[in-house]
Amino acid sequence: MLGGGISGLASAWHLSRAGHRVVLFEASSELGGLASAFDHDGLAVERFYHCLMPTDDALLALLRDVGIEREVIWRQVAMGFMVGGRVFPMNTALDLLRFEPLPFLDRLRMGLMALRARAQGPKPELDEITVVEWIRQTAGERLYRRLWKPLLEAKLGDSHAGIPALWLASRIHREKSSQKEVKGFVPGGYRAIAAAIERGLRSMGAVIRLRTEVKRIELSGEKVDVTFQDGACEAFDRAVVTTPLVTLHQMAPTLPLGAVRDVQLDYQGVVNGVILTKRPLSRFYWMPIVESGAVCQGVVEMTNLVPAARSNGVYVNYFVNYTHRSSELYSRSDGELLDLYEADMRRLFPHAAGGVVGRYLFRTPFVEPIWTLRYGRQRPPVNPIPGRVYLACTAQVYPKINAWNSCCEVAAEMAETFAREISATRPVAVAGRA
Ligand SMILES: Cc1cc2nc3c(=O)[nH]c(=O)nc-3n(C[C@H](O)[C@H](O)[C@H](O)COP(=O)(O)OP(=O)(O)OC[C@H]3O[C@@H](n4cnc5c(N)ncnc54)[C@H](O)[C@@H]3O)c2cc1C
Repeated sequence: MLGGGISGLASAWHLSRAGHRVVLFEASSELGGLASAFDHDGLAVERFYHCLMPTDDALLALLRDVGIEREVIWRQVAMGFMVGGRVFPMNTALDLLRFEPLPFLDRLRMGLMALRARAQGPKPELDEITVVEWIRQTAGERLYRRLWKPLLEAKLGDSHAGIPALWLASRIHREKSSQKEVKGFVPGGYRAIAAAIERGLRSMGAVIRLRTEVKRIELSGEKVDVTFQDGACEAFDRAVVTTPLVTLHQMAPTLPLGAVRDVQLDYQGVVNGVILTKRPLSRFYWMPIVESGAVCQGVVEMTNLVPAARSNGVYVNYFVNYTHRSSELYSRSDGELLDLYEADMRRLFPHAAGGVVGRYLFRTPFVEPIWTLRYGRQRPPVNPIPGRVYLACTAQVYPKINAWNSCCEVAAEMAETFAREISATRPVAVAGRA
């Protein structure tokens, strides 16, 4: 098993439970991947904000299996929207009707679009048109420019224009399919979730090797050879790759991956400053920020989900930019970026400015797959080399959004296919008389 993020953990879980002997290799010193944490004065804080949704069925089933589903705490949270330095709540139909930055007609159009998208769900034909065409058709040019463009740019940068509409329809469906905006967390954070899965894996005999980066995967006779950063090589019956697709391409230049080799999926990266304060910024969990002269595209105030009493009285705020690894912003130094984010905070939330107790900067290049039109037809299979090499990664979550739950669904699909193919290739003893 290559990779110790949720895709690797969930895949390892299913395969171990089916009786396979699993060895999991993780390049870093901690499990959890993008949801892993850093320590601030004894407090574990996720490097990138994460929360659970009530619709996360596959993830919640995994939490049940490892005995921590009951620990999930669900809370109603609010979303705000900052335009021109003013904050507008954006949670109910009434909030939308009162949203002054849009002309009244556009507010109605927006409500209608959301209602229609929710009623229709993610229809497969939306894979054929871009998100921009879809919004223009259903809500009009002005609504696209004024509201959707900045929101989409905040997640996907310039690449948003070519994304299939199916992605947005799926997102609207996930975010709003519960009546109230409710999100969940586990005490101890995602580190506690990863630790619970790790305990479960070890109890089933799985071996976990941290700080072990896989450099190469090759077929060798009946075996799959895995080579590590120190040059050592080990042979396995099968390999399951759960890293982003680009990493598979780098690690496996000689593997006969067929059509998977042609899927040149690019990824949007993320830069985020975690600014810990003594005072809250606002009452909103998530707030996109547009036309306000800020560097960040949005702020997530985790303390509006996880109360400050659970984080030693510290308020945990994420100042976020989704940006490509080739962008000028991505290349700036940690210190420069933190200064920019802190300046955003001082200007937009001056009441909290004096109380900064910690600043941390994290960036990562391969986060949001930049889907292209008709990706549904290119989506890599979970068994690129049946019986030998399997794949469960974010390149396969489409059209679902990139989230822990979607990764758990892909892992379950991979494990089912794995079980079918492995039992099909095992010699079967047939008893009977000729
Ligand atoms: C800012 C941000 C906010 C998010 N918010 C949410 C949220 O609220 N809810 C939600 O459900 N999801 C959220 N997500 C998405 C979520 O993080 C991803 O869907 C999920 O983490 C993907 O898991 P993964 O295991 O596929 O990949 P990763 O988490 O990237 O894990 C891959 C692992 O493979 C390891 N690895 C890579 N190369 C090698 C190698 N050569 N050898 C060995 N190991 C290797 C890496 O070190 C890493 O641990 C968010 C993501 C970001 C960035």
